[in-house]
Amino acid sequence: QAFSAAYQPATGGAPTIWQRRRAASNDRDLEALAERLNREVEGKSAPEIVRAALDPALGLRVGTISSFGAESAALLHIIAKERSETPVVFLETGQHFLQTLSYRTQLTKALGLSDVRLVTPDAGEKTTLDARDDLWKTDADACCDLRKVRPLARATAGFNAIITGRKRYQASTRAALKPFEVLDGVLRINPLADWDSEDVEAWLVEHDLPRHPLVEQGYLSIGCWPCTRAVEDGEDARAGRWSGMDKVECGIHLGKRQAAA
Ligand code: SF4
Repeated sequence: QAFSAAYQPATGGAPTIWQRRRAASNDRDLEALAERLNREVEGKSAPEIVRAALDPALGLRVGTISSFGAESAALLHIIAKERSETPVVFLETGQHFLQTLSYRTQLTKALGLSDVRLVTPDAGEKTTLDARDDLWKTDADACCDLRKVRPLARATAGFNAIITGRKRYQASTRAALKPFEVLDGVLRINPLADWDSEDVEAWLVEHDLPRHPLVEQGYLSIGCWPCTRAVEDGEDARAGRWSGMDKVECGIHLGKRQAAA
């Protein structure tokens, strides 16, 4: 069975009844598929989960999101080995460390990724909402919405399945993560759900993958520079993200319903 992309109004207009019905039916189909795939991949490795998601028989339009951060090389390596032309979306927020941008170039070349898409905020929205590039100081949620959530929704409108590098150990909001789940009408695939930092490290060493240059300076989870700091020994890796702010996720993995809650 082939699946249609979730309905996402391009201009913010309200969906018609027909579009809502189609989205509801698509959701049910995807939920059933996620349940089936979760049963089938029980006990399977991350590459096997990626292989299952990319099975042409499913007819899914699969892409992935990557921050080209501290742990990104492991998932990108697995995906590149299976299908190097898989679209990789990088949210070019305009607030990344220069080291992240150079690492993106280095890793793209090393892994032979042939379709890395740089996605920027809408120019008009940015001028209206954050002309001085400092919205993060006063409203980090609005800043992430402008620079990450909205651009991702636009960039992935043609996908109905997205591979992510999320892991259960990273945050309480991810504790129940399954390899396959449905969020806002899109199949989310989390091949590394049961990995921890030692699994990632072992994979990077085993495959001799390039490291993000900031890792050796103590940056163990890396996002935009205003919202990322190095962590101390013994501190949780994600303690360096939005440190001092009441925030643990940027919102791209929460879905509209959870984000609104
Ligand atoms: Fe803005 Fe910080 Fe979110 Fe980046 S991580 S989009 S700078 S609030």
